[in-house]
Amino acid sequence: MTDHNMYSEIILMHNRSGHNRHALSGETHAERGHNPSCGDDLTLHLRVVDGIIESASYTGSGCALSQASISIMIDLITGMDLDSAKNMANDFFDMARGETISPEAEEALQDAMAFQNIAKMPARTKCGTLGWHCLTASIAETTADDVN
Ligand SMILES: [Zn+2]
Repeated sequence: MTDHNMYSEIILMHNRSGHNRHALSGETHAERGHNPSCGDDLTLHLRVVDGIIESASYTGSGCALSQASISIMIDLITGMDLDSAKNMANDFFDMARGETISPEAEEALQDAMAFQNIAKMPARTKCGTLGWHCLTASIAETTADDVN
């Protein structure tokens, strides 16, 4: 049951549902993330209006872990303002590095806590964090847009 331990029911469920895997109409940002060590190649699509992530989706292909992670992330960040989404991403990165995060942060991450064990599997860490890196890159671009 090694696979069961690695992916957990939550991850498998999200990977199967595919409800966030589609193109996004009216997108304001698209950020491609590539993880050569596994072959994951995913693009995060965001529609940001007045600093709020109104809608999000992903396209591309990747392993179960990378797709489940980006799908769970999309469920979490939809409707969130950019600052909150950025803070959540930083909490996720801390967790993925095996650091202890606050109980409040754990509660906010909900299903994403299923990735707590990827810190013990260095080869898979990049799969689990790929979508979140797309998110922080998109937010960085959005912030740069505001300055101009
Ligand atoms: Zn992968």
